Amino acid sequence: MEILKGIPVSPGFAIAEAFLLDSDESVIPRRFITAEEVDGEIERFHSAVEQAKEEIRELQKRVAAEEVGSETVPIFDAHILIISDQSLHQEVMGRITRNRFTAEYAISRSLRKFEKAFHRMDDSYLAQRITDLHDIERRLLQALLGGRKAELQHLNRKVVLIAHDLTPSQTASIDKDKILGFATDVGGMTGHTAIVARARELPAVVGLGTVSTDVSSGDLVIIDGNRGVVVVSPDENTLQTYRRMIDDFHNFENALFSEKHLPAETTDGTRVKVTANIEFPREIEAVLGFGGEEVGLYRTEFIYAESEGEPDEEQHFQQYKCSLNNIGTRPITIRTLDLGADKFFASMGDKGDTSQMHERNPVLGCRAVRYCLQRPQLFRQQIRAICRASALGQGQVSMMIPMITCVDEVHRVRDMIAEVQEQLAEEGVDFDPDMPIGIMVEVPSVALCIEAFVGIADFFSIGTNDLTQYTLAVDRTNEHVASLYRQGHPAVLQLVKKVIECGLTHEIPVSVCGEMAGDPTYVLFLLGLGLRKFSVSPPLIPEVKKLIRSVTISKASEVAQKTMLLQTTREVEGYLRSITREYLPDWPFS
Ligand code: PEP
Ligand code: MG
Repeated sequence: MEILKGIPVSPGFAIAEAFLLDSDESVIPRRFITAEEVDGEIERFHSAVEQAKEEIRELQKRVAAEEVGSETVPIFDAHILIISDQSLHQEVMGRITRNRFTAEYAISRSLRKFEKAFHRMDDSYLAQRITDLHDIERRLLQALLGGRKAELQHLNRKVVLIAHDLTPSQTASIDKDKILGFATDVGGMTGHTAIVARARELPAVVGLGTVSTDVSSGDLVIIDGNRGVVVVSPDENTLQTYRRMIDDFHNFENALFSEKHLPAETTDGTRVKVTANIEFPREIEAVLGFGGEEVGLYRTEFIYAESEGEPDEEQHFQQYKCSLNNIGTRPITIRTLDLGADKFFASMGDKGDTSQMHERNPVLGCRAVRYCLQRPQLFRQQIRAICRASALGQGQVSMMIPMITCVDEVHRVRDMIAEVQEQLAEEGVDFDPDMPIGIMVEVPSVALCIEAFVGIADFFSIGTNDLTQYTLAVDRTNEHVASLYRQGHPAVLQLVKKVIECGLTHEIPVSVCGEMAGDPTYVLFLLGLGLRKFSVSPPLIPEVKKLIRSVTISKASEVAQKTMLLQTTREVEGYLRSITREYLPDWPFS
């Protein structure tokens, strides 16, 4: 039995056999097979070789047919020669048989050896062939990993997924009937993979460092998404302990669930709104099911996760229409595209987008409103779709702009919205001229100068995920600095307080839609600062409501005041956790 510790990002437990899924974009881990698996692994290698040859021949035919370069065609002959080379085959099969390496790792090691040999020969022709070796390696790995992906799609048993990393769209497309949970080497608490896992109620632990090498396919694994633990090959005692914990957890959840439709009202009568964050229109069922009052944040960039190409105005409009139909008369806050950082999707169109994947600091680069302002045509399409949705005569539609850093950006976006609305009016297309336009406060420059946004933003929504990232200079998805990523840092709390106070002074609605709002630790604190709108992942709604219903406003204010006097993150977390436990005694987290 082996116990691995990572970051708990999505609560719940999963116990099942492991299924390993590698990515051809990550380093191939050194993984071993058993003696019985050697023949099967050699077979996998041979099929990958055949598939890769087939693909190269196809490509060669296409290039020849397009007559784009007779010089290119022989390169493919060279690739087929290398891929069929018997010394390469012997090398790979030797590593599978002798070292018991997986086919992936054996290929990767063998091609590295050839590469080194080419380097040493000091021959410029051979040096140029090194890129061909990379190309061949990628093709063979894709063939092998593609096979694994197809196998995953046709599984007839339940598994837990183990991977180096999963993208937010891979997480969104996980089939929950077969995959009970997942664990990855990389990732952080508020990365979008984690956010999607929480929304989908998939128990998950990330940032484990080496789980994808420590676990082999077929191992029995426990994923403990409450404490951030992965147990490999558990003994009978551990399994029994976990079965009891699973029962307790279900009892806790069922008790909360039975009260989910009670209003979020403090014991002394202050009404608070608990709204939901969604990524897809289909999640609205869960919003209503968990007792959510409206959609406080609709992350529209996830349209790209399920789109073949760049979505057009009509595709945007249909998604918003579908959300509005599903939610009836309740309001929705649609956030404009927050593409970039950890949200890159295969369907992102022009070449510029792919180049941005390789920005040196994507989190500080061209993301969200910056990305949209650099592509006015794409942005205008989305604005038109949101404006059209605002006139559908159901719940109120608001528009929210992410990653604002200065007043000028708000003016530029507002000018574009005004232009679009003028054009729609000329075309005789309906829209709501009073649609509220608000901003995300998720960069310290905005929180510090929040007074400058009074009068130009109709509401503020505090994005504590990014606010924490940018205030503390800690990448929210990087497991190596995860211990420094703490929402309870006094600097973050001061910025949150400043924004809520500004809203109260100027009667501007303020919500918190970052993960802080759904973390029970911070609910009393935020309530005490004067927050009256929380926007959280749907499954977290009952817990947040329960806490609000357990306390008076004067007690919450006292908690907020005491917290603001604390000077370290550790003191803040310690104090808020102990106070939360008083109001939520069965809380299964710590
Ligand atoms: C945030 O940054 O807190 C937020 C809600 O936006 P996202 O998580 O999509 O970046
Ligand atoms: Mg954000």
